[in-house]
Amino acid sequence: MQVARLHGAKDIRIAEEPPPPPPAPGEITLRVKTVGICGSDLHMYETGRIGYTVARQPFVLGHEFMGEVAAVGAGALDGQHQPLQAGQRVAVEPAVPCWRCELCEHGHPNLCPNHYFYGLYPQDGALRERMTVSARNCFPMPDALGDETGPLLETLGVALHAIDLSKIRLASTVAVLGAGPVGLLITRLARLAGAARIFAFDKFAWRVRLAKAWGATHVYNVDDCEPAAVLRDLTGGRGVDVAIEAAWADHSVQQAADMARPGGRLVLVGIPPDDRLRLQHSVARRKGLTILMSRRMKHTYPRAIKLAAAGTVKLAELVSHRYALSEVARAYARNAAYEEGINKVIVRVPR
Ligand SMILES: [Zn+2]
Ligand SMILES: [Zn+2]
Repeated sequence: MQVARLHGAKDIRIAEEPPPPPPAPGEITLRVKTVGICGSDLHMYETGRIGYTVARQPFVLGHEFMGEVAAVGAGALDGQHQPLQAGQRVAVEPAVPCWRCELCEHGHPNLCPNHYFYGLYPQDGALRERMTVSARNCFPMPDALGDETGPLLETLGVALHAIDLSKIRLASTVAVLGAGPVGLLITRLARLAGAARIFAFDKFAWRVRLAKAWGATHVYNVDDCEPAAVLRDLTGGRGVDVAIEAAWADHSVQQAADMARPGGRLVLVGIPPDDRLRLQHSVARRKGLTILMSRRMKHTYPRAIKLAAAGTVKLAELVSHRYALSEVARAYARNAAYEEGINKVIVRVPR
């Protein structure tokens, strides 16, 4: 079967490899159909590392994915504890927690210290024709959702978790920094959560336009203005109740803190390239900000599927580019270059 491995920074190669062995109890074999490219994948692609995880061997990227169940191991129950069957289309939550530790027991599987994650070194991801996955991580997709929306359920899960942490209240004010796929979904969900005014910021003109389409009431290009000053003017000097950082977590963290009102909440979703959080202590302290680090997601797939299947969140509209697995190196290069109009890139795996 075809497998795409990252051999080092900006070096993805496709090779023929043997298919996976039959699934063990509690596992399935997945015939992978679609895989999304995420900002965190781009970090790994550009530098061969993310945070303190360094890729030491060639490995397979891809943590946003769906496919068809090809073979079912004994007692394979899905994420809702229902039996899985061959032929079912499933989206896969990429984080596999141990379900036994203190954090898992207390309802925080996203913080499990014993977890592994498909597509994060050393665990191989989905840029391959077949893979073995934990059945419990599989969520059957309703017919209303096309194959391209499967990978985006992971992105929506990240946005849902950030919104859960934000505790947005009806008629409140929200700033969203970054209008990539996660920022756009956060914007849409903030609207659904009842925010009255949503201020969105990005540095790319086409993304600023998208933010408006996804529900922001005010949109700005950060290169054309002083974002915190603009926001101070618009809120009569008060600032916003909730500021959500969903960019690259560089100076945007400081900007988000500058935008929050005293006693406000700051939710950090972006991942900085150099693994450093830059924030002026006195700003956060004097405002008494509540700072929340959004770590992936928890229990979000069933809700994400409901929102997408009902059309409340139109996931397919985020897809801007499609590539075959054989073109995956080009797909990554173009996404990393942030070519005009690029939003969510989907890799279609079947030959
Ligand atoms: Zn992702
Ligand atoms: Zn655990």
